[in-house]
Amino acid sequence: MPPAALDRARWDLLVVGAGTAGLIGAQIAAALGARVLLVERERFGGDCLWTGCVPSKALLAAAHAAADARAAERYGVHVGDVRVDGPAVLAAVRQAIETIAPVDSPDAVRASGAETASGSVRFTGATRAEVDGAPARFRQALLCTGSAPRMPDLTGLADVDPLTTDSVWSLSDLPDRLVVLGGGTSGCELGQAFARLGVHVTLVEAGDRLLAGEDPRAAEVLTEALRRDGVDVRLGSAPVRVTGDGRQGRLHLADGGGADFDRLLVTVGRDPRIQGLGLDAAGVATGEDGSVVVDDALRTTNPRIWAAGDVTGHPAFTHVAGVHGNLAATNAVLGLRRRVDLSAVPRVTFTRPEVAAVGEPTGEPGADRRVHTQPLRRADRAIAEQSTEGFTRLVVDGRHRVRGATVVGPRAGEALTELTLAVSRGLTTSHLTGAMHPYPTYADPQWNAAIADYRGRLTSRSGRIALTALRLARRVRLALDDRRGSDTPTTA
Ligand SMILES: Cc1cc2nc3c(=O)[nH]c(=O)nc-3n(C[C@H](O)[C@H](O)[C@H](O)COP(=O)(O)OP(=O)(O)OC[C@H]3O[C@@H](n4cnc5c(N)ncnc54)[C@H](O)[C@@H]3O)c2cc1C
Repeated sequence: MPPAALDRARWDLLVVGAGTAGLIGAQIAAALGARVLLVERERFGGDCLWTGCVPSKALLAAAHAAADARAAERYGVHVGDVRVDGPAVLAAVRQAIETIAPVDSPDAVRASGAETASGSVRFTGATRAEVDGAPARFRQALLCTGSAPRMPDLTGLADVDPLTTDSVWSLSDLPDRLVVLGGGTSGCELGQAFARLGVHVTLVEAGDRLLAGEDPRAAEVLTEALRRDGVDVRLGSAPVRVTGDGRQGRLHLADGGGADFDRLLVTVGRDPRIQGLGLDAAGVATGEDGSVVVDDALRTTNPRIWAAGDVTGHPAFTHVAGVHGNLAATNAVLGLRRRVDLSAVPRVTFTRPEVAAVGEPTGEPGADRRVHTQPLRRADRAIAEQSTEGFTRLVVDGRHRVRGATVVGPRAGEALTELTLAVSRGLTTSHLTGAMHPYPTYADPQWNAAIADYRGRLTSRSGRIALTALRLARRVRLALDDRRGSDTPTTA
């Protein structure tokens, strides 16, 4: 839409940012009959498509293919030398993005009934904004500007042209030596991917474990797996400075050691994208971490402006951004007060093995909680496929409801979907045991964990009393049948 047309009338909903939250918010609002303008300053599709989920999973697919080929001998399959063609791998990653891009394009958005524009939005008042300087008035707005890679304050870092999850996808070839700074989800995924593709990877984490926030045992299993892949995992290694010439250099660590690199990749977290938005002029408050303050209906401190996705500081996942976008747009357009529920947000680290979790922590369960752990080495499917590294852990409350879960193993993200439903809907372990599960799958351990909890109920005092009562009643009925001399049972 040309700048002059932006201010012809007031927009029912001005949506800022065409990532997952903005795309879904704009399309839902248009479907509800609102007059919607979606404005994006870079590329429609946002981080998930261009720099996040899609490229990282495409790179991991290539990496896992290489690792599977190298490991094929254990099944008696010989594939010869495995050669990785770096530029071809990176081209395949870009191809995956291009294949998906049309779904998120301005054409697709316009087909849903919303208008689109390119440019940077800046608020100039409570219900006024500019798009690259051109005025646009709105009744309500939805802020979906996402988050950007955080850069640590590290002496010498800027001199080595560090890569981030934004820029790593424009590499034309794989580096020989890569240092990954930060052992969260992105650091682990990209560290493993590059290592499996033949890059010498050093993964430096200042904390004493990877995946802070996940079950400590899950982090241990992943650390062992990364080391087997050849990743030099350095835990408790605080970086102090970088020295280098051009892009090559050395990351110096507080313990006196260091790691040499041809490229340095920084994955130490993300900050909400709020710069230049004019949030003060709009009366939109931000928290100490820079995230936009929202209530549980996703309304900001300006009652006419809503926010969705990473910019809110809520868990930074595409599925959260999508649910947010839907909910905020519906609340804004229809005047509802639907609330966002973050009690069952699934989290997956797509390494091998995958680490997937939902709900309450399984590592340190709270009071009145039981924990059931089932190792993957007892799952027939895992044994058959020689992929027995991992476990499933369920946290169950006093009323037998599943409150949290961690799944570590192949396809853990897929296995987690059932447990996410259980946590979000308050299902009990007997709901899980009562549903037939296909055999053999990587979901067997969670079924077995639920069965273990259910068996525990049968051996509890109340369970034993109930069983005894049923057995006695059965004996009495059979005795009555015997006395009548009848073969026909009085009861089933
Ligand atoms: C390496 C990596 C891997 C990931 N993998 C996964 C995964 O496997 N699964 C998962 O669920 N999540 C994953 N994520 C997280 C996921 O990408 C984000 O949570 C999601 O993209 C957030 O969507 P969003 O709509 O909030 O923001 P974004 O997708 O960041 O979109 C925000 C948009 O707003 C635009 N914008 C900003 N300011 C303005 C302005 N002033 N005017 C106009 N436009 C503006 C930006 O250009 C951007 O396009 C990953 C992230 C990374 C970095």
